[in-house]
Amino acid sequence: MKSEFDICIIGAGMAGATIAAYLAPKGIKIALIDHCYKEKKRIVGELLQPGAVLSLEQMGLGYLLDGFDAQPVDGYALLQGDEKITIPYPHPYTGMGLHNGRFLQQIRGSALQNESVKQIHGKALQLLENERHEIIGVSYRESLTSEIKSIHAPLTITSDGFFSNFRESLSNNEKTVTSYFIGLILKDCEMPFPKHGHVFLSGPTPFICYPISNHEVRLLIDFPGEQLPRKLLLQAHLDANVTPYIPECMLASYEQAMQEGGFKVMPNHYMAAKPIIRKGAVMLGDALNMRHPLTGGGLTAVFSDIQILSTHLLAMPDFTNTDLIHEKIEAYYRDRQHANANLNILANALYGVMSNDLLKTAVFKYLQCGGANAQESIAILAGLNRNHFSLIKQFFFLAVFGAYDLVRENSENLPKATKILADAFTIIKPLAKNELSVAGIVTGYFKNNPRLTSTLSRR
Ligand SMILES: Cc1cc2nc3c(=O)[nH]c(=O)nc-3n(C[C@H](O)[C@H](O)[C@H](O)COP(=O)(O)OP(=O)(O)OC[C@H]3O[C@@H](n4cnc5c(N)ncnc54)[C@H](O)[C@@H]3O)c2cc1C
Repeated sequence: MKSEFDICIIGAGMAGATIAAYLAPKGIKIALIDHCYKEKKRIVGELLQPGAVLSLEQMGLGYLLDGFDAQPVDGYALLQGDEKITIPYPHPYTGMGLHNGRFLQQIRGSALQNESVKQIHGKALQLLENERHEIIGVSYRESLTSEIKSIHAPLTITSDGFFSNFRESLSNNEKTVTSYFIGLILKDCEMPFPKHGHVFLSGPTPFICYPISNHEVRLLIDFPGEQLPRKLLLQAHLDANVTPYIPECMLASYEQAMQEGGFKVMPNHYMAAKPIIRKGAVMLGDALNMRHPLTGGGLTAVFSDIQILSTHLLAMPDFTNTDLIHEKIEAYYRDRQHANANLNILANALYGVMSNDLLKTAVFKYLQCGGANAQESIAILAGLNRNHFSLIKQFFFLAVFGAYDLVRENSENLPKATKILADAFTIIKPLAKNELSVAGIVTGYFKNNPRLTSTLSRR
């Protein structure tokens, strides 16, 4: 069937709007469907790691970060008890802290100014299939009329976020809730280290903060468990596990935010990407893959996926050959797995580490030593180092460092040292199994050791 569109995008969120903004100026005809185009106030996607900023710049979309008071972020600060350390991002890269709603409106505006994009207000209902069970578009309920209509396109991108309605037909995986984040905005707040993301490790669960505008700081507080915290429980958690550990310089803004109330609570999911590859459709963003937001890796993964998928699609002369589109979808799923494994593993592994007293202290001391290991670790967190061997090496070094440090302190700590090694293994094993291939680690090993590679090739 000849369609008026090349691509139908379900969901004009971070993923859908950004890929539309990138592909539309290249003449790709796009139907962009969402049920809400108003600016939202969300607590998600407010810290862009340097890897995300770099992807935007590489796509020529760096200008989307201009003009709405987004703030540069130069590195991370870790605070535990009275001790503090800062680790800069690798030079010359920076991250950005911003209001997600404002950023999204900017991206949508950029996509919709193209004549090749048709904006559709409606709720996508069902993927449409032909007699060969290939996906040929989507039905939707138009917002204005409530009429059920349909759009046909040779490729449908489902980017409808973490509650995706289309995961069932296109993915073999189920999401799990790791914990919740409670979000507060601190006004006119002085952070211990301006222009830094902060991770506070003194309490029993971690909390983080970073600037989102010139005079606002986002505070995200972890609430462990799979159950949505009820109001009383939430208040008790803040009183016991957060308030005592807020630094002096942030206290006035924190107390004001507590008085004003209005916190937002969001579930933190983990879901490895296990796509069902079907002709005519592809998944993008949280609909396909999620990780704990502690490391702010979500948008780095989203923008990197957009680069990979777009590169494959733009290599086609047009969208008429559905077999070729299918090949490109397969190539995208293969390449993205490698590109995003470090982000996914680090996010959930670090959450596991921060929720474990022994490992939490170990990570603090490990990074406090500075040097090449701290630099390699921050480059992985920044989304700039995607080498799997680097990640496994750093995690292994951390566990051994923690165990050695305990025994060095006191030989009676041997059981604790053994526990650290066992806990580290328990954290990393399921994540590595989900996200990594042995081939990827071995290739990473040779990339990390160029001298060895050239010696072997000379032989
Ligand atoms: C608490 C929290 C904090 C986070 N913090 C960060 C961070 O600091 N940095 C970072 O990089 N990542 C962060 N993330 C992750 C990041 O926000 C997500 O990875 C990113 O927003 C995913 O974009 P998306 O386009 O897939 O989904 P969304 O941005 O949620 O977009 C989905 C869109 O689909 C639309 N939609 C849904 N259903 C339909 C339908 N049936 N029909 C039509 N439209 C539909 C919605 O209206 C929406 O516009 C965080 C996540 C959480 C939970």
